[in-house]
Amino acid sequence: MRHKIERMFTSILPVDKQRTGECNNCGACCHLPFRCYFLKSGEDGKEYCSIYAIRPPNCRKFPRTLEQYNHVKDTCGFSFNTDKDQKDK
Ligand code: SF4
Repeated sequence: MRHKIERMFTSILPVDKQRTGECNNCGACCHLPFRCYFLKSGEDGKEYCSIYAIRPPNCRKFPRTLEQYNHVKDTCGFSFNTDKDQKDK
């Protein structure tokens, strides 16, 4: 929960320039630390944000930092230029 609150208050900050890639709609960030109320299941079995067009900055910018990315890196479509260095350790 601490991370969620921290994400909300720091979401006014810019996205780290090391970030590359794009969202693949895996939905992992919509379960941090619990399933988001606005996440809805589609008939195709996928999950969708029901307020996508007006989603708040902490969702819009996720993952804003490498630390945030590390919580979802197994499925997230984004990556950070330092990601290779992290995985090699
Ligand atoms: S974890 Fe990454 S790829 Fe998955 S929904 Fe969130 S931003 Fe998109």
